[in-house]
Amino acid sequence: MSGAHGSHGHDEGDGDEKPEGPPTEFDCPDCNANNPCDALRDKDEVLCLYCGGSFEVRLPPQGKMKLKAL
Ligand SMILES: [Zn+2]
Repeated sequence: MSGAHGSHGHDEGDGDEKPEGPPTEFDCPDCNANNPCDALRDKDEVLCLYCGGSFEVRLPPQGKMKLKAL
């Protein structure tokens, strides 16, 4: 009898796949501060907690979220 193959069922390096969902944070275009927030939707208005700037969320179906200064 020769030994069994020891296969460790340990999958690493799968990357961190983010589940699709609304962003829950944004980086302020003005001061670059990271602001956690509620789930963002297109045309939401967000307020930077650091510099007080307000921005409108542009969330295209595909691609990155953008913030437009108000
Ligand atoms: Zn800011």
